[in-house]
Amino acid sequence: MAVQQNKMSKQKIRQRKGANRYQGIQTSPCPSCGAARLTHRVCPKCGHYGDRQVISITAE
Ligand SMILES: [Zn+2]
Repeated sequence: MAVQQNKMSKQKIRQRKGANRYQGIQTSPCPSCGAARLTHRVCPKCGHYGDRQVISITAE
């Protein structure tokens, strides 16, 4: 019967399980234009962050 040499800490177990839970970068739809954007970032399509215009995007 195999016997473990050292008890693995909760932190070590959670680090391993957390890496298995990773699902890639998270995106959410922009509330003003609906385009997918990174969470807690300015929308690259319309330049909104929350409900205010932060940067101006010039149309091509
Ligand atoms: Zn947007």
